[in-house]
Formats: sequence, structure tokens, C-alpha cells
Amino acid sequence: MARRFAGGKLVVASHNAGKAREIRELLAPYPVEVISAADLNLPGPEETGLTFIANAELKARAAATTSGLVALADDSGMSVDGLNGAPGIYSARWAGPDKDFAFAMKRVETELGGNPNRGAQFNCALTLCWPDGHCESFEGTLQGQLVFPPRGTKGFGYDPIFIPEGETRTFGEISADEKHAMSHRALAFRQLVAACFA
Ligand code: IMP
Repeated sequence: MARRFAGGKLVVASHNAGKAREIRELLAPYPVEVISAADLNLPGPEETGLTFIANAELKARAAATTSGLVALADDSGMSVDGLNGAPGIYSARWAGPDKDFAFAMKRVETELGGNPNRGAQFNCALTLCWPDGHCESFEGTLQGQLVFPPRGTKGFGYDPIFIPEGETRTFGEISADEKHAMSHRALAFRQLVAACFA
């Protein structure tokens, strides 16, 4: 039986503006006062974990301990079939210190070369941690196909090259509401809500 969130303040432990915005939008229907890690000047810990869940726990645990509040962290990324799962947990790092995702998407295209396998998946781990160290984690996965050159200006990160299964448009071309109806983050979020918020 998962521990329930009693309501009130919740720190979103992410310094990624795109992710923080999506988590705020997903939390909007719930009685939660969202506080961002940036508002509290919380440092982002080094992501030394080897799985999405390990990194999400690392971030949520650090934010909960430092702030004394319940914290929610997201660790996510894109795993490309033809690249043996890369960039995976290193998705943010492929964009370099300038967080240049045009560069990261180009790198995916270059490394795939003539490989006809364009399959990929987005993964999202969400971890909720309490200041006493208790954590609950959930994971969502979404299959899709990559397309080059990038299409659309909505979303963030690798969205413009990812077409989710059953769609013809990239995540860069669909609205935030449409993305929230199907995304890897929404899939993990649904489990989190059912276990800890319902
Ligand atoms: P991290 O979880 O902070 O290590 O960063 C995850 C990285 O994965 C982000 O910087 C994005 O590049 C990528 N990513 C995660 N979720 C999404 C998404 O919904 N759309 C596009 N890119 C994403």
C-alpha cells in the first residue's frame, strides 16, 4: 500500500523548465500548492544513478531532505532502438552544457546514419519522497518513431523528432493537452495519482 500525499505544499524537484511546466499542468486538478526547486534555490544533485528511477529518487530525496517538504522528481529520457538505448538516462547530457537540443537531435540523426530502424521510446520515472526518507516511484513508457528533420516548435527536448505510436505528428506539433493525454510522463503520473493522491 503506497503512502498518500496529505495535501498542501509539494516541491517539484526539477530545474528543467519544460518538465516543471508539464508537471505543474498535470498537478493542476489536485489540491497541491506547487513550489519549484528554483524558488527554494535547491541545488540539483549529481545524477549518478544508472536507471531513470534511481535518478528520480536521488533528486526527490535530496529536495525533500533539504526543504523539509514532500518532493516530486522526474527523471526521463529518450531511448533509441538503433543506438542500443542511447541516449537514455544521458538524454539531457547529449545536449551539452548549453542545453542545445537542436545539436542533440542532430547527433541522434548522425549516429543512426542509414539505419532503417527508427524505433524509440520515451521513459519517465516519477518519485515522490517525504522528508523522513520514504519514497514512492512510478514509471511510464511510450513507444514511437523518429523523424528527421525535427518538426514543430511545441514541447521541449527531443519532442520535434518523436512521433508517438498511433500519431502522424511529432510531439513538437501537438498541443500540450494532447501530449498530456498520452505521454510517458502522463502514464507515470496516472499511476502516481492513483496510488498517492486518490
Ligand atoms: P533529466 O531527467 O533531467 O536527466 O533530463 C531528461 C531529458 O530527457 C530532458 O532534458 C529532455 O531532453 C529529455 N526528455 C524527457 N522528457 C521529454 C519529453 O517529454 N519530451 C522531450 N524530451 C524529453
